[in-house]
Amino acid sequence: MHVVVTGGGGFLGAHLCEALLRRGDTVWCLDNFSTSSPTNTAHLCDHPRFRPVRADVTAPFDVPAPVHVVAHLASPASPPDYDRLPLETLAVGSQGTENALRLALWHGARFLLASTSEVYGDPATHPQPEEYWGNVNPIGPRSVYDEAKRYAEALASAYRRSRGLDVGIVRIFNTYGPRMRPHDGRVVSTFIRQALEGSPLTIYGDGSQTRSFCYVDDLVRGLTAMADSDRDGPINLGNPCEHTVRELADLVLEAAGSHSRIEYRRLPTDDPTHRQPVIARACEQLGWSPVVSIEEGLERTVAWFADRRRQPDRAPDRGGPAFVKA
Ligand code: NAD
Ligand code: UDP
Repeated sequence: MHVVVTGGGGFLGAHLCEALLRRGDTVWCLDNFSTSSPTNTAHLCDHPRFRPVRADVTAPFDVPAPVHVVAHLASPASPPDYDRLPLETLAVGSQGTENALRLALWHGARFLLASTSEVYGDPATHPQPEEYWGNVNPIGPRSVYDEAKRYAEALASAYRRSRGLDVGIVRIFNTYGPRMRPHDGRVVSTFIRQALEGSPLTIYGDGSQTRSFCYVDDLVRGLTAMADSDRDGPINLGNPCEHTVRELADLVLEAAGSHSRIEYRRLPTDDPTHRQPVIARACEQLGWSPVVSIEEGLERTVAWFADRRRQPDRAPDRGGPAFVKA
């Protein structure tokens, strides 16, 4: 298959590109590197079926080849990133999603939308099944991301109903692993960086808020299963093992063998108090469930971060030309 991955240079996108190449697909990786760097995919650039394209998907784009799947992952995803890029986040969720949908329609391809557990906002239902409609503050700092993703889900669903497009929506819960940026501001990458530096782990609030952390290999397996299926979704993809942020800090200290102390900071506005996916639908419809425990996943991620600290990255910028359809 020929697969277009928007945001393919990012944390999840690069892992997805790698998995698709491994199974024999040709991969068009579109990215503007607004929250990533070409380093993530530098090791793929000599692969004969890898096609890196530097492109901003908020402008119309095409690829000069048949397309069977469009996996739309482009979007800032970490709270500090979308706080820094509020208008860009809204634009990529709206115009960027519409351009990706049009590409899929044009080529008769399946469209896979990487949505998020953030569509549930600060959930009043716990754990969160797909039927829950969410509790989002439409004007708060997180709204640029939450509402952009909710709009993207609405738009993709409208293309399915009105144009017959083959659409699949997944709602991804907190995912971690190698290739996260040490300074992306997300909790796992931040705690690991701090633990390895020996600096204090910064817990926001009292650390009683919860998240459910999924290892990236499990998540990518879910993405490919959804791409290969004919399911509409939305389908939650995440690891249902829930931890408080305070527990996560202890797990990271243990995995890193670190004696960093804990420092408490102000809780950001609208920070969800708890989050845990119901994954019955993913199990039944995709035969998917995560298998990597938090201890194992953190061990692998800490090893990658430690290795990266020893090898400063000097990978060249390998973005290729954009093929833009008028
Ligand atoms: P990331 O920031 O590492 O990757 C996003 C990629 O999109 C980056 O490479 C960025 O440069 C690119 N991008 C942003 N705007 C673009 C634009 N206008 N044109 C082209 N490329 C653009 O984040 P990630 O964690 O890999 O997330 C990937 C997707 O998965 C996002 O859509 C995110 O909302 C979704 N998601 C991720 C998580 C998670 O825990 N990682 C959870 C829920 C949803
Ligand atoms: N968090 C924290 N310290 C940090 C970064 C994040 O305590 O240095 C908290 C954050 O307030 C939230 C949780 O960890 O409650 C998960 O944050 P992240 O940004 O990783 O994901 P999201 O909030 O989008 O689920």
